[in-house]
Amino acid sequence: MKSKSAIIIGAGIGGICAAIHLASHGIHTTVAEKNTLAGGRCDQINRDDHHFDAGPTLMVMPHVYEAEFNALGCPINELLDLQRVDPTYRLVFDDGSQLALTSDMQSLKDQLESIQTGAFQGFLRYHEEGERHYRIGMERLVNRDFRRFSDLFTLSNIPLLFQVKPLVKHYANMSAYFDNPRLKAAFTFQDVYMGLSPFEAPATFSLMPYSELAHGVWYPKGGMYSIVEGLMSLAREAGVEFAFDTTVEQIIVNSRGAKGVILEHNQQFMADVVLANADLPYVYQELLPKDGQAEKLSRKHYSCSVISFFWGVDKPYESLGPHTLFLADDYQANFDTIIGELGLPANPSLYIHAPARLDPSMAPQGQDTLIAVVPVGHLSENGDQDWSDLTDQARKHVFRRLASLGITDLEAHIKFETTLTPLSWRKRFNLMKGSTHGLSHNLAQLAYFRPANRHPRYRNLYFVGASTHPGTGVPTAMISARLVARRILDELPELG
Ligand SMILES: Cc1cc2nc3c(=O)[nH]c(=O)nc-3n(C[C@H](O)[C@H](O)[C@H](O)COP(=O)(O)OP(=O)(O)OC[C@H]3O[C@@H](n4cnc5c(N)ncnc54)[C@H](O)[C@@H]3O)c2cc1C
Repeated sequence: MKSKSAIIIGAGIGGICAAIHLASHGIHTTVAEKNTLAGGRCDQINRDDHHFDAGPTLMVMPHVYEAEFNALGCPINELLDLQRVDPTYRLVFDDGSQLALTSDMQSLKDQLESIQTGAFQGFLRYHEEGERHYRIGMERLVNRDFRRFSDLFTLSNIPLLFQVKPLVKHYANMSAYFDNPRLKAAFTFQDVYMGLSPFEAPATFSLMPYSELAHGVWYPKGGMYSIVEGLMSLAREAGVEFAFDTTVEQIIVNSRGAKGVILEHNQQFMADVVLANADLPYVYQELLPKDGQAEKLSRKHYSCSVISFFWGVDKPYESLGPHTLFLADDYQANFDTIIGELGLPANPSLYIHAPARLDPSMAPQGQDTLIAVVPVGHLSENGDQDWSDLTDQARKHVFRRLASLGITDLEAHIKFETTLTPLSWRKRFNLMKGSTHGLSHNLAQLAYFRPANRHPRYRNLYFVGASTHPGTGVPTAMISARLVARRILDELPELG
Protein backbone atom coordinates (compact mmCIF):
# COMPACT_ATOMS: atom_id res chain seq x y z
CA MET A 1 0.00 0.00 0.00
CA LYS A 2 1.28 3.46 -0.89
CA SER A 3 2.37 5.28 2.27
CA LYS A 4 0.41 8.39 3.28
CA SER A 5 1.95 11.83 3.08
CA ALA A 6 1.75 15.00 5.16
CA ILE A 7 2.85 18.56 4.47
CA ILE A 8 3.45 20.71 7.54
CA ILE A 9 3.39 24.51 7.23
CA GLY A 10 6.06 25.87 9.56
CA ALA A 11 9.00 24.48 11.52
CA GLY A 12 8.07 25.90 14.92
CA ILE A 13 8.23 23.60 17.96
CA GLY A 14 4.75 22.24 17.20
CA GLY A 15 5.57 21.63 13.54
CA ILE A 16 8.85 19.83 14.20
CA CYS A 17 7.41 17.63 16.97
CA ALA A 18 4.32 16.69 14.97
CA ALA A 19 6.60 15.85 12.03
CA ILE A 20 8.63 13.48 14.20
CA HIS A 21 5.49 11.72 15.48
CA LEU A 22 4.04 11.34 11.99
CA ALA A 23 7.28 10.26 10.30
CA SER A 24 7.90 7.71 13.06
CA HIS A 25 4.54 6.17 12.13
CA GLY A 26 5.51 5.76 8.50
CA ILE A 27 3.92 8.92 7.11
CA HIS A 28 6.03 10.62 4.49
CA THR A 29 6.39 14.04 6.11
CA THR A 30 7.67 17.29 4.64
CA VAL A 31 7.94 20.60 6.48
CA ALA A 32 7.90 23.89 4.54
CA GLU A 33 9.31 26.79 6.56
CA LYS A 34 9.39 30.38 5.34
CA ASN A 35 12.54 31.26 7.31
CA THR A 36 16.04 29.86 6.91
CA LEU A 37 16.10 28.51 10.47
CA ALA A 38 13.91 26.05 12.35
CA GLY A 39 12.31 26.87 15.71
CA GLY A 40 9.81 29.62 14.90
CA ARG A 41 9.36 31.84 17.94
CA CYS A 42 11.93 29.70 19.77
CA ASP A 43 14.46 31.60 17.74
CA GLN A 44 18.08 32.60 18.22
CA ILE A 45 20.32 35.51 17.33
CA ASN A 46 24.08 34.94 17.11
CA ARG A 47 26.57 37.72 16.61
CA ASP A 48 30.29 38.08 17.43
CA ASP A 49 30.15 35.10 19.84
CA HIS A 50 27.17 36.57 21.69
CA HIS A 51 24.24 34.10 21.70
CA PHE A 52 20.69 35.25 22.40
CA ASP A 53 17.44 33.33 22.73
CA ALA A 54 15.12 35.63 20.83
CA GLY A 55 11.85 34.18 22.16
CA PRO A 56 11.55 31.79 25.11
CA THR A 57 14.14 32.04 27.88
CA LEU A 58 12.40 30.05 30.63
CA MET A 59 12.22 26.29 30.56
CA VAL A 60 9.21 25.63 32.77
CA MET A 61 7.33 22.38 33.50
CA PRO A 62 10.43 20.20 33.10
CA HIS A 63 8.57 16.91 33.47
CA VAL A 64 6.31 17.87 30.53
CA TYR A 65 9.47 18.18 28.43
CA GLU A 66 10.67 14.88 29.86
CA ALA A 67 7.41 13.12 28.96
CA GLU A 68 7.24 14.68 25.50
CA PHE A 69 10.86 13.80 24.64
CA ASN A 70 10.13 10.25 25.78
CA ALA A 71 7.06 10.21 23.53
CA LEU A 72 9.32 11.34 20.69
CA GLY A 73 11.54 8.36 21.37
CA CYS A 74 14.54 9.95 23.09
CA PRO A 75 15.16 10.67 26.79
CA ILE A 76 15.69 14.41 27.25
CA ASN A 77 18.99 13.95 29.06
CA GLU A 78 20.50 12.34 25.98
CA LEU A 79 19.96 15.57 24.07
CA LEU A 80 20.12 18.39 26.59
CA ASP A 81 22.38 19.36 29.45
CA LEU A 82 19.96 20.86 31.99
CA GLN A 83 20.47 22.92 35.13
CA ARG A 84 17.91 24.22 37.58
CA VAL A 85 17.79 28.00 38.03
CA ASP A 86 17.26 28.95 41.67
CA PRO A 87 16.27 31.58 42.65
CA THR A 88 14.09 31.50 39.56
CA TYR A 89 13.77 35.28 39.41
CA ARG A 90 14.95 38.24 41.31
CA LEU A 91 11.96 40.59 41.57
CA VAL A 92 12.80 44.30 41.95
CA PHE A 93 10.06 46.69 43.09
CA ASP A 94 9.77 50.43 42.44
CA ASP A 95 11.52 51.42 45.69
CA GLY A 96 14.47 49.11 44.93
CA SER A 97 13.40 46.42 47.44
CA GLN A 98 13.77 42.87 46.17
CA LEU A 99 12.27 39.41 46.48
CA ALA A 100 14.14 36.35 45.26
CA LEU A 101 11.63 33.65 44.32
CA THR A 102 13.35 30.51 45.53
CA SER A 103 12.50 26.94 46.40
CA ASP A 104 14.62 27.38 49.55
CA MET A 105 11.63 27.58 51.88
CA GLN A 106 13.50 29.14 54.80
CA SER A 107 14.81 31.93 52.61
CA LEU A 108 11.40 32.44 51.01
CA LYS A 109 9.73 32.47 54.42
CA ASP A 110 12.14 35.10 55.77
CA GLN A 111 11.63 37.31 52.73
CA LEU A 112 7.82 36.99 52.62
CA GLU A 113 7.47 37.63 56.36
CA SER A 114 9.61 40.77 56.04
CA ILE A 115 7.14 42.10 53.47
CA GLN A 116 3.96 41.08 55.31
CA THR A 117 3.64 39.34 58.65
CA GLY A 118 1.90 36.00 58.18
CA ALA A 119 2.54 35.97 54.42
CA PHE A 120 4.31 32.62 54.47
CA GLN A 121 1.18 30.85 55.71
CA GLY A 122 -0.73 32.55 52.88
CA PHE A 123 1.92 31.42 50.44
CA LEU A 124 1.66 27.80 51.61
CA ARG A 125 -2.11 27.83 51.12
CA TYR A 126 -1.73 29.46 47.71
CA HIS A 127 0.91 26.92 46.73
CA GLU A 128 -1.43 24.12 47.74
CA GLU A 129 -4.18 25.57 45.56
CA GLY A 130 -1.66 25.95 42.72
CA GLU A 131 -0.77 22.26 43.07
CA ARG A 132 -4.44 21.31 42.72
CA HIS A 133 -4.91 23.59 39.72
CA TYR A 134 -1.79 22.21 38.10
CA ARG A 135 -2.66 18.55 38.68
CA ILE A 136 -6.29 18.79 37.61
CA GLY A 137 -5.80 21.46 34.94
CA MET A 138 -3.02 19.57 33.18
CA GLU A 139 -4.89 16.28 33.25
CA ARG A 140 -8.38 17.48 32.38
CA LEU A 141 -7.85 20.62 30.30
CA VAL A 142 -4.35 20.62 28.78
CA ASN A 143 -3.08 17.12 28.26
CA ARG A 144 -6.10 15.93 26.34
CA ASP A 145 -7.96 16.38 23.16
CA PHE A 146 -11.29 18.16 22.69
CA ARG A 147 -12.69 16.63 19.53
CA ARG A 148 -16.37 17.13 20.29
CA PHE A 149 -18.73 19.09 22.56
CA SER A 150 -19.22 16.10 24.86
CA ASP A 151 -15.47 15.95 25.56
CA LEU A 152 -15.85 18.94 27.89
CA PHE A 153 -19.53 19.15 28.67
CA THR A 154 -20.10 16.06 30.78
CA LEU A 155 -21.48 15.66 34.27
CA SER A 156 -18.10 14.42 35.43
CA ASN A 157 -16.55 17.73 34.42
CA ILE A 158 -18.92 19.90 36.50
CA PRO A 159 -16.67 19.69 39.59
CA LEU A 160 -13.96 21.41 37.52
CA LEU A 161 -15.86 24.66 38.05
CA PHE A 162 -14.97 24.46 41.73
CA GLN A 163 -11.72 22.53 41.57
CA VAL A 164 -9.76 24.89 39.31
CA LYS A 165 -11.68 28.18 39.77
CA PRO A 166 -12.12 29.03 36.07
CA LEU A 167 -14.79 31.63 36.89
CA VAL A 168 -12.76 33.49 39.52
CA LYS A 169 -10.29 36.18 38.40
CA HIS A 170 -6.73 35.38 39.34
CA TYR A 171 -5.87 38.72 40.97
CA ALA A 172 -9.15 38.88 42.91
CA ASN A 173 -8.43 35.38 44.20
CA MET A 174 -5.12 36.59 45.70
CA SER A 175 -6.91 38.46 48.50
CA ALA A 176 -7.56 35.08 50.07
CA TYR A 177 -3.81 34.64 50.51
CA PHE A 178 -2.03 38.01 50.73
CA ASP A 179 -2.85 41.62 51.65
CA ASN A 180 0.31 43.15 50.28
CA PRO A 181 -0.11 44.21 46.62
CA ARG A 182 3.54 43.39 45.81
CA LEU A 183 3.01 39.81 46.93
CA LYS A 184 -0.18 39.60 44.91
CA ALA A 185 1.87 40.77 41.93
CA ALA A 186 4.80 38.42 42.68
CA PHE A 187 2.55 35.38 42.33
CA THR A 188 0.38 36.46 39.40
CA PHE A 189 2.74 38.19 36.93
CA GLN A 190 3.29 34.79 35.25
CA ASP A 191 -0.13 35.28 33.56
CA VAL A 192 1.65 37.50 31.08
CA TYR A 193 3.18 34.30 29.66
CA MET A 194 -0.35 33.44 28.56
CA GLY A 195 -0.59 36.95 27.18
CA LEU A 196 -3.17 37.70 29.89
CA SER A 197 -3.65 40.25 32.63
CA PRO A 198 -4.16 38.68 36.10
CA PHE A 199 -7.20 40.96 36.34
CA GLU A 200 -8.86 38.97 33.54
CA ALA A 201 -7.08 35.58 33.78
CA PRO A 202 -8.88 32.72 35.52
CA ALA A 203 -7.50 31.80 38.94
CA THR A 204 -6.71 28.42 37.36
CA PHE A 205 -3.41 29.98 36.28
CA SER A 206 -2.02 29.83 39.82
CA LEU A 207 -0.71 26.57 38.38
CA MET A 208 2.15 28.56 36.79
CA PRO A 209 3.75 30.11 39.92
CA TYR A 210 3.17 26.78 41.65
CA SER A 211 5.02 24.86 38.95
CA GLU A 212 7.87 27.37 38.75
CA LEU A 213 8.64 26.87 42.44
CA ALA A 214 7.73 23.21 42.81
CA HIS A 215 9.20 21.83 39.58
CA GLY A 216 11.63 24.64 38.93
CA VAL A 217 12.70 26.85 36.08
CA TRP A 218 15.47 25.18 34.13
CA TYR A 219 18.06 26.12 31.58
CA PRO A 220 19.56 23.96 28.85
CA LYS A 221 23.26 24.55 28.17
CA GLY A 222 23.49 26.60 25.00
CA GLY A 223 20.12 28.21 25.71
CA MET A 224 16.56 27.39 24.65
CA TYR A 225 17.63 27.07 21.03
CA SER A 226 19.40 23.84 21.95
CA ILE A 227 15.89 22.36 22.36
CA VAL A 228 15.24 23.17 18.69
CA GLU A 229 18.59 21.64 17.71
CA GLY A 230 17.77 18.48 19.68
CA LEU A 231 14.34 18.20 18.07
CA MET A 232 15.80 18.78 14.60
CA SER A 233 18.24 15.92 15.09
CA LEU A 234 15.33 13.63 16.04
CA ALA A 235 13.33 14.83 13.03
CA ARG A 236 16.13 14.11 10.61
CA GLU A 237 16.64 10.67 12.17
CA ALA A 238 12.93 9.98 11.71
CA GLY A 239 13.26 10.86 8.02
CA VAL A 240 11.39 14.18 8.02
CA GLU A 241 12.20 16.33 4.99
CA PHE A 242 12.58 20.09 5.44
CA ALA A 243 12.28 22.85 2.86
CA PHE A 244 13.58 26.10 4.38
CA ASP A 245 13.19 29.51 2.85
CA THR A 246 9.93 28.17 1.44
CA THR A 247 6.73 30.09 2.04
CA VAL A 248 3.35 28.40 1.70
CA GLU A 249 1.10 30.87 -0.12
CA GLN A 250 -2.16 28.93 -0.18
CA ILE A 251 -3.77 25.73 1.03
CA ILE A 252 -5.46 23.95 -1.87
CA VAL A 253 -8.96 22.85 -0.85
CA ASN A 254 -12.09 21.47 -2.45
CA SER A 255 -15.52 21.24 -0.84
CA ARG A 256 -14.49 18.45 1.54
CA GLY A 257 -10.85 18.68 2.24
CA ALA A 258 -7.35 19.94 1.67
CA LYS A 259 -5.38 18.59 -1.27
CA GLY A 260 -2.01 20.17 -0.62
CA VAL A 261 -0.38 23.59 -0.71
CA ILE A 262 0.87 26.15 -3.19
CA LEU A 263 4.40 27.37 -2.58
CA GLU A 264 6.14 30.39 -4.04
CA HIS A 265 6.38 30.48 -7.84
CA ASN A 266 3.04 28.65 -8.02
CA GLN A 267 4.62 25.30 -7.23
CA GLN A 268 2.05 22.77 -5.99
CA PHE A 269 2.77 20.22 -3.28
CA MET A 270 0.04 17.61 -2.85
CA ALA A 271 -0.41 15.56 0.35
CA ASP A 272 -2.96 13.38 2.14
CA VAL A 273 -2.81 15.58 5.23
CA VAL A 274 -2.07 19.29 5.62
CA LEU A 275 -0.97 20.37 9.10
CA ALA A 276 -0.62 24.10 9.75
CA ASN A 277 1.86 25.13 12.44
CA ALA A 278 1.79 28.75 11.26
CA ASP A 279 -0.36 30.93 13.54
CA LEU A 280 -3.95 29.69 13.17
CA PRO A 281 -5.69 33.06 12.64
CA TYR A 282 -3.10 33.92 9.96
CA VAL A 283 -3.80 30.60 8.23
CA TYR A 284 -7.52 31.35 8.08
CA GLN A 285 -6.87 34.89 6.88
CA GLU A 286 -4.11 34.33 4.33
CA LEU A 287 -3.99 30.69 3.26
CA LEU A 288 -7.64 29.58 3.09
CA PRO A 289 -10.59 30.75 0.98
CA LYS A 290 -12.54 33.56 2.63
CA ASP A 291 -15.66 32.16 4.33
CA GLY A 292 -16.19 34.59 7.21
CA GLN A 293 -14.17 32.52 9.69
CA ALA A 294 -11.08 34.73 9.38
CA GLU A 295 -13.11 37.83 10.32
CA LYS A 296 -14.60 36.02 13.32
CA LEU A 297 -11.13 34.98 14.44
CA SER A 298 -9.75 38.48 14.02
CA ARG A 299 -12.36 39.72 16.52
CA LYS A 300 -11.19 37.30 19.21
CA HIS A 301 -8.88 38.33 22.06
CA TYR A 302 -5.18 38.32 21.30
CA SER A 303 -2.30 38.12 23.71
CA CYS A 304 -0.03 41.09 24.26
CA SER A 305 3.27 41.58 22.51
CA VAL A 306 6.77 42.66 23.54
CA ILE A 307 9.60 44.96 22.52
CA SER A 308 12.86 43.05 23.01
CA PHE A 309 16.40 44.43 23.03
CA PHE A 310 19.43 42.21 22.42
CA TRP A 311 22.70 43.74 23.54
CA GLY A 312 26.24 42.53 23.01
CA VAL A 313 28.11 44.29 25.82
CA ASP A 314 31.87 44.74 26.24
CA LYS A 315 31.99 44.11 29.98
CA PRO A 316 30.27 41.61 32.30
CA TYR A 317 27.45 42.71 34.61
CA GLU A 318 27.91 39.99 37.20
CA SER A 319 25.47 41.67 39.62
CA LEU A 320 22.62 40.88 37.21
CA GLY A 321 21.21 37.42 37.93
CA PRO A 322 19.96 35.18 35.10
CA HIS A 323 16.34 36.40 35.35
CA THR A 324 15.54 39.84 36.81
CA LEU A 325 12.02 41.18 36.77
CA PHE A 326 11.19 44.79 37.56
CA LEU A 327 7.61 44.73 38.84
CA ALA A 328 5.83 48.08 38.75
CA ASP A 329 3.72 49.14 41.72
CA ASP A 330 1.07 50.45 39.32
CA TYR A 331 0.46 46.84 38.42
CA GLN A 332 -3.14 47.15 37.26
CA ALA A 333 -2.43 50.31 35.24
CA ASN A 334 0.32 48.38 33.46
CA PHE A 335 -2.08 45.72 32.28
CA ASP A 336 -4.83 48.24 31.49
CA THR A 337 -2.44 50.10 29.19
CA ILE A 338 -1.07 46.99 27.52
CA ILE A 339 -4.31 45.11 27.04
CA GLY A 340 -6.94 47.87 27.05
CA GLU A 341 -5.07 50.64 25.21
CA LEU A 342 -2.55 48.49 23.29
CA GLY A 343 0.20 50.80 24.51
CA LEU A 344 3.37 51.05 26.58
CA PRO A 345 2.75 51.71 30.29
CA ALA A 346 4.12 54.93 31.82
CA ASN A 347 6.21 52.85 34.25
CA PRO A 348 6.39 49.41 32.65
CA SER A 349 7.21 46.16 34.40
CA LEU A 350 10.09 44.62 32.45
CA TYR A 351 12.39 41.61 32.35
CA ILE A 352 16.16 41.25 31.92
CA HIS A 353 17.85 37.98 31.01
CA ALA A 354 21.60 37.46 31.41
CA PRO A 355 22.23 33.96 29.97
CA ALA A 356 25.99 34.09 30.58
CA ARG A 357 25.27 33.76 34.33
CA LEU A 358 24.04 30.24 33.55
CA ASP A 359 26.30 29.34 30.64
CA PRO A 360 29.47 31.44 30.22
CA SER A 361 29.73 30.38 26.56
CA MET A 362 26.75 32.64 25.76
CA ALA A 363 29.11 35.67 25.78
CA PRO A 364 32.78 36.15 24.90
CA GLN A 365 35.06 36.00 27.93
CA GLY A 366 34.99 39.23 29.95
CA GLN A 367 31.88 40.48 28.12
CA ASP A 368 28.12 40.05 28.48
CA THR A 369 25.01 39.11 26.54
CA LEU A 370 21.86 40.86 27.76
CA ILE A 371 18.23 40.66 26.72
CA ALA A 372 15.59 43.15 27.89
CA VAL A 373 11.91 42.43 27.28
CA VAL A 374 9.22 45.10 27.72
CA PRO A 375 5.59 43.90 27.38
CA VAL A 376 3.42 46.16 25.17
CA GLY A 377 0.07 46.00 23.41
CA HIS A 378 -0.30 44.02 20.20
CA LEU A 379 -0.66 45.79 16.85
CA SER A 380 -3.78 47.93 16.61
CA GLU A 381 -6.25 47.63 13.74
CA ASN A 382 -5.75 51.19 12.53
CA GLY A 383 -1.94 51.19 12.74
CA ASP A 384 -1.87 54.29 14.95
CA GLN A 385 1.03 53.08 17.14
CA ASP A 386 4.40 54.77 16.55
CA TRP A 387 6.72 51.81 17.13
CA SER A 388 9.87 53.81 16.66
CA ASP A 389 8.85 56.21 19.42
CA LEU A 390 7.55 53.41 21.67
CA THR A 391 10.82 51.51 21.22
CA ASP A 392 12.85 54.60 22.22
CA GLN A 393 10.69 55.03 25.30
CA ALA A 394 10.94 51.34 26.23
CA ARG A 395 14.74 51.48 25.88
CA LYS A 396 14.93 54.48 28.25
CA HIS A 397 12.76 52.64 30.78
CA VAL A 398 15.19 49.71 30.76
CA PHE A 399 18.17 51.97 31.51
CA ARG A 400 16.20 53.85 34.17
CA ARG A 401 15.25 50.59 35.90
CA LEU A 402 18.79 49.23 35.74
CA ALA A 403 20.06 52.44 37.33
CA SER A 404 17.96 51.57 40.40
CA LEU A 405 20.26 48.52 40.76
CA GLY A 406 23.35 50.72 40.43
CA ILE A 407 23.93 49.86 36.76
CA THR A 408 24.35 53.29 35.17
CA ASP A 409 26.92 52.72 32.43
CA LEU A 410 25.28 50.01 30.31
CA GLU A 411 24.43 52.25 27.35
CA ALA A 412 28.11 53.22 26.97
CA HIS A 413 29.19 49.56 26.86
CA ILE A 414 26.78 48.28 24.20
CA LYS A 415 28.76 47.02 21.19
CA PHE A 416 25.68 46.25 19.10
CA GLU A 417 21.94 46.16 19.50
CA THR A 418 19.14 44.22 17.82
CA THR A 419 15.54 45.17 18.50
CA LEU A 420 12.34 43.22 17.90
CA THR A 421 8.94 44.92 18.06
CA PRO A 422 5.40 43.66 17.39
CA LEU A 423 6.02 44.56 13.74
CA SER A 424 9.02 42.20 13.71
CA TRP A 425 7.02 39.36 15.30
CA ARG A 426 4.35 39.73 12.65
CA LYS A 427 6.80 39.93 9.77
CA ARG A 428 9.18 37.17 10.85
CA PHE A 429 6.64 34.52 11.90
CA ASN A 430 3.33 35.73 10.44
CA LEU A 431 1.91 36.18 13.93
CA MET A 432 -1.49 37.80 13.73
CA LYS A 433 -1.40 41.32 15.25
CA GLY A 434 2.22 40.63 16.28
CA SER A 435 0.86 38.86 19.39
CA THR A 436 3.78 36.93 20.82
CA HIS A 437 1.55 34.28 22.43
CA GLY A 438 -1.16 34.06 19.78
CA LEU A 439 -4.83 33.94 20.68
CA SER A 440 -5.22 34.89 24.30
CA HIS A 441 -6.05 32.30 26.97
CA ASN A 442 -9.16 33.73 28.59
CA LEU A 443 -11.95 31.38 29.55
CA ALA A 444 -13.81 31.83 26.27
CA GLN A 445 -10.71 30.76 24.36
CA LEU A 446 -9.55 27.73 26.36
CA ALA A 447 -10.00 23.96 26.06
CA TYR A 448 -13.07 23.12 23.94
CA PHE A 449 -13.54 26.86 23.21
CA ARG A 450 -10.07 27.27 21.66
CA PRO A 451 -9.93 26.76 17.89
CA ALA A 452 -9.65 22.99 17.53
CA ASN A 453 -6.73 21.01 16.16
CA ARG A 454 -8.83 20.05 13.13
CA HIS A 455 -10.57 22.37 10.69
CA PRO A 456 -14.36 22.06 11.12
CA ARG A 457 -14.95 21.68 7.36
CA TYR A 458 -11.77 20.48 5.68
CA ARG A 459 -11.42 17.16 7.48
CA ASN A 460 -7.77 16.50 6.61
CA LEU A 461 -6.57 20.01 7.56
CA TYR A 462 -5.14 20.12 11.06
CA PHE A 463 -3.55 22.76 13.30
CA VAL A 464 -0.73 22.62 15.83
CA GLY A 465 0.83 25.35 17.97
CA ALA A 466 0.13 28.29 20.21
CA SER A 467 -3.21 29.56 18.81
CA THR A 468 -4.82 26.14 18.82
CA HIS A 469 -5.27 23.62 21.64
CA PRO A 470 -3.83 23.57 24.33
CA GLY A 471 -2.11 26.98 23.90
CA THR A 472 1.14 28.90 24.14
CA GLY A 473 4.54 27.77 25.42
CA VAL A 474 7.26 25.42 24.26
CA PRO A 475 6.18 22.38 26.31
CA THR A 476 2.56 23.10 25.35
CA ALA A 477 3.48 23.11 21.66
CA MET A 478 5.04 19.68 22.21
CA ILE A 479 1.79 18.45 23.81
CA SER A 480 -0.21 20.02 20.96
CA ALA A 481 1.96 18.12 18.47
CA ARG A 482 1.46 14.78 20.20
CA LEU A 483 -2.31 15.28 20.47
CA VAL A 484 -2.73 16.30 16.84
CA ALA A 485 -0.46 13.54 15.54
CA ARG A 486 -2.51 11.00 17.52
CA ARG A 487 -5.68 12.44 16.02
CA ILE A 488 -4.30 12.34 12.49
CA LEU A 489 -3.20 8.72 12.95
CA ASP A 490 -6.64 7.82 14.36
CA GLU A 491 -8.49 9.57 11.55
CA LEU A 492 -6.20 8.70 8.66
CA PRO A 493 -8.05 5.49 7.72
CA GLU A 494 -11.33 7.38 7.30
CA LEU A 495 -9.65 10.17 5.28
CA GLY A 496 -9.52 7.75 2.35
C1 LIG B 1 9.17 36.87 23.20
C2 LIG B 1 8.64 35.51 23.54
C3 LIG B 1 8.95 34.94 24.77
C4 LIG B 1 8.49 33.66 25.08
N1 LIG B 1 8.87 33.10 26.27
C5 LIG B 1 8.58 31.80 26.51
C6 LIG B 1 9.19 31.11 27.60
O1 LIG B 1 10.02 31.68 28.33
N2 LIG B 1 8.88 29.79 27.79
C7 LIG B 1 8.02 29.12 26.95
O2 LIG B 1 7.78 27.91 27.15
N3 LIG B 1 7.42 29.77 25.90
C8 LIG B 1 7.70 31.06 25.66
N4 LIG B 1 7.18 31.70 24.55
C9 LIG B 1 6.15 31.02 23.77
C10 LIG B 1 6.72 29.97 22.81
O3 LIG B 1 7.88 30.46 22.18
C11 LIG B 1 5.69 29.67 21.73
O4 LIG B 1 4.42 29.42 22.32
C12 LIG B 1 6.07 28.44 20.92
O5 LIG B 1 7.43 28.48 20.54
C13 LIG B 1 5.16 28.46 19.70
O6 LIG B 1 5.42 27.36 18.89
P1 LIG B 1 4.47 27.01 17.68
O7 LIG B 1 4.52 25.53 17.50
O8 LIG B 1 3.14 27.63 17.85
O9 LIG B 1 5.17 27.59 16.39
P2 LIG B 1 5.70 29.04 15.94
O10 LIG B 1 6.84 29.39 16.78
O11 LIG B 1 4.61 30.02 15.76
O12 LIG B 1 6.26 28.62 14.50
C14 LIG B 1 5.46 28.59 13.34
C15 LIG B 1 6.39 28.59 12.15
O13 LIG B 1 5.59 28.72 10.97
C16 LIG B 1 6.34 29.52 10.05
N5 LIG B 1 5.43 30.06 9.04
C17 LIG B 1 4.47 31.00 9.22
N6 LIG B 1 3.81 31.22 8.07
C18 LIG B 1 4.36 30.40 7.14
C19 LIG B 1 4.11 30.18 5.76
N7 LIG B 1 3.14 30.82 5.11
N8 LIG B 1 4.87 29.26 5.11
C20 LIG B 1 5.86 28.58 5.76
N9 LIG B 1 6.14 28.78 7.07
C21 LIG B 1 5.39 29.66 7.76
C22 LIG B 1 6.97 30.57 10.92
O14 LIG B 1 8.07 31.20 10.28
C23 LIG B 1 7.38 29.75 12.13
O15 LIG B 1 8.68 29.24 11.99
C24 LIG B 1 7.65 32.96 24.19
C25 LIG B 1 7.34 33.52 22.94
C26 LIG B 1 7.85 34.77 22.61
C27 LIG B 1 7.59 35.31 21.25
